[in-house]
Amino acid sequence: MSLQVIGDPVLHSKSPAIQGAMLAALGLEIPYTAHVVRRGELPQYLAWAKENGVTGFNATMPHKEDLLPLLDEIDPLAQSIGAVNTVCLREGRWVGFNTDGGGAVAALRDGLGLDPAGLTVTLLGAGGAAKAVALALSAAGAERVWVCNRTMERGEALCRRDPHLRAMPMDFSPATLANLCRESRLLVNCTNLGMADCPRQFANFDFLDALPQGAGVFDLIYHPAETELLAQARRRGLGTLNGLPMLVNQAVLALEHFLDRPLDRKAMGSAAAAAINDRHSPNC
Ligand code: NAP
Repeated sequence: MSLQVIGDPVLHSKSPAIQGAMLAALGLEIPYTAHVVRRGELPQYLAWAKENGVTGFNATMPHKEDLLPLLDEIDPLAQSIGAVNTVCLREGRWVGFNTDGGGAVAALRDGLGLDPAGLTVTLLGAGGAAKAVALALSAAGAERVWVCNRTMERGEALCRRDPHLRAMPMDFSPATLANLCRESRLLVNCTNLGMADCPRQFANFDFLDALPQGAGVFDLIYHPAETELLAQARRRGLGTLNGLPMLVNQAVLALEHFLDRPLDRKAMGSAAAAAINDRHSPNC
């Protein structure tokens, strides 16, 4: 039995460190390694993996969407998102899941004490991560998920995928963001704005003033640990959460799928978080 993460590029992936730490904490000697698989090579990879004892893998770009037609079964949430990041071999059949959205929902519950049920959410972005988070929030019972994106058509396409009809596309203008924030308990940033290697930033943060007292701001970015959006939200007394707990939680959910059993999520999360912190340490 062995586990892998595939993608291109993939050698920078934190998954081997995170999954390795969780497997070690469980006392399991199951190897988890990173493998470069180029676009177009998935059919050959799936055949090779089956023959070589690979019982599960995580997928990163560019494979999350291309895998769908190649798998034997796809979990309903992954199907609605239109992307898988976790694939398990079950009785000789490849089964696909998406743990990004579930990881975000778990992070929100633990980190901000917010249950999506009944929440009105303003969500920024409509890329891969936004799709997973918006549809997971909707599936978890959010009252409304306003999907605000610079490219309106992309937001519309995302919302058409929502089987629960709770995601609604909106534009990305400062006026719209302020109007939607007024009625939202949670703001989620799924854009690249504020990322360490992205020079672009929000035009201003006035929309944060419209959020009601007690609202939370969740930025999927974890590098830097505190984006300008989160710093501005913190200064306004709002709850804040960065992307690290989502990264950790999606990995814990993936390992539960690989092992096909529930795990002590708190213990696994601590092992995973420690592995990430070790990697960030300048002494390593
Ligand atoms: P993506 O598919 O490339 O989507 C990027 C999004 O950002 C799009 O909605 C894009 O809008 C928007 N955007 C980019 N530049 C913009 C600008 N100047 N003004 C307004 N909007 C802009 O990327 P992704 O994979 O979804 O990742 C998005 C972020 O989530 C990244 O920061 C990534 O690190 C983070 N992430 C975190 C986790 C985690 O576990 N914490 C997991 C996945 C991703 P358009 O559609 O108009 O281009």
